[in-house]
Amino acid sequence: MSKPKIVVLGAGYAGMMTTKRLMQKLRPEEAELVLVNKHNYHYQTTWLHEVAAGAINQNQARIMISDVINPNRVNLIYDEVVEVKKDENRVLLKNSEITYDYLVISLGFETNTFGIKGMEKNAFSITDIDSSRMIREHIEYQFAKYSNSDKKKDEDLTILVGGGGFTGIEFVGELAEQVPKLCKKYDIDRSKARIVNVEAAPRVLGGFNDDLVEYAKKSLQERGVEFREGAKISECKKNSFVIDEEEEIKAGTIVWTGGVTGNSILGKSGFELTKGKVTVNGDLRAPGEENIFIIGDCAWVMNEEEDRPYPPTAQAAIQQADTCSANLKALIYGDSLEKFVFDDKGTVASLGEKDAMGTVFDGRLLYGKSATAMKKVIDNRYLFMLGGPQLILKKGKLKLF
Ligand code: FAD
Ligand code: NAD
Repeated sequence: MSKPKIVVLGAGYAGMMTTKRLMQKLRPEEAELVLVNKHNYHYQTTWLHEVAAGAINQNQARIMISDVINPNRVNLIYDEVVEVKKDENRVLLKNSEITYDYLVISLGFETNTFGIKGMEKNAFSITDIDSSRMIREHIEYQFAKYSNSDKKKDEDLTILVGGGGFTGIEFVGELAEQVPKLCKKYDIDRSKARIVNVEAAPRVLGGFNDDLVEYAKKSLQERGVEFREGAKISECKKNSFVIDEEEEIKAGTIVWTGGVTGNSILGKSGFELTKGKVTVNGDLRAPGEENIFIIGDCAWVMNEEEDRPYPPTAQAAIQQADTCSANLKALIYGDSLEKFVFDDKGTVASLGEKDAMGTVFDGRLLYGKSATAMKKVIDNRYLFMLGGPQLILKKGKLKLF
């Protein structure tokens, strides 16, 4: 019997950890492994707001795939997935195609603009390395242009961030630290540059612990971040947001952090979608598909106790990789499959380099230095799981406070 071929699509948290676990669980003679990704690097999506604000260089947030996945064991294909032909066990890539016996779809998220007029065209988004790098460069350009101009328009120094979920809040936290540095660099009075977060709901970070939200807002306001809550963005123009169809806020930089959805390849490939993602079975397989797993931000995985899906996070994606790889081995050997159970270890959000807040697994609330250190420990733990202590030394956040 020829050995089964397992193809993993997407080298984000879910795809990298699945591949890593498969390498540990299956010997080369037991299965052929293939990992397909758009780029030859994996990036830390959870650090992209730092790249976008200019707090870290993009190279810190990316890791060459071949540095952590042995190319002698896994066939690494750097190409773009175009469509999954699920009835033919085939994947079309931009430059070729591949067949599979088992498939893992872990192609991550895309920005969701909910059809808001002008948003896709006029706003930046924090989606990947390139989109994040563009934001950083655009912001710096605005400051350089202002400094060098005879007809200064203060609004060019305004940075508008649409959406006050975790991405929006973490991003303004980084901006609160980077904007003063840019003002200094370009001899600009700090009071001229505004950072404005616009949130439709009555409060940013909806559903999160009240005390932590208050802490975050206070910390950010003290560093010059303005909040507009209960303000729904109805349109995005070239240099402004329109709020509730009446008010216009002008800016030189506009970033949309108002929501995400699953990769559009899912729809193109004929999977049934709920709000852009596939609601998978408890064993993480797509409904009706014996040999296709969908994990990470492409999947809704139901929390049966609460009758709603788990939030799409890196934490969940990494844990799903464990279940997915165990189930792939079980399928190969005709064993029974396990059900994914999420082990919630809490949520910690950075508010710039020196402040953070969040909850940890036992429900404890963390603020300030202890939260900052915890966030870095979480980041370093992932690097350790992926590439051991060498990767922490190379890419980790070694200064905990
Ligand atoms: P991704 O990380 O999006 O990876 C998908 C991979 O697929 C990428 O490598 C991409 O290049 C590749 N790909 C996409 N399309 C194609 C294609 N057509 N062909 C080939 N390859 C393709 N979660 C947390 O738990 N904690 C946090 O602190 C946290 N912080 C965040 C901060 C920010 C700024 C953002 C945006 C999100 C954050 N999240 C956090 C959420 C978390 O990043 C996502 O839930 C997580 O990235 C999902 O992992 P994934 O593997 O499904 O997808
Ligand atoms: P999100 O969907 O969680 O938040 C988007 C926010 O934009 C919401 O508050 C929403 O009310 C607001 N919004 C939507 N439409 C709007 C409009 N028209 N006008 C104004 N505001 C509008 O998206 P996200 O923040 O990108 O987070 C995505 C996922 O990633 C979540 O699961 C989140 O938990 C996770 N994440 C986690 C962390 C962390 O753990 N530190 C950090 C970032 C993201």
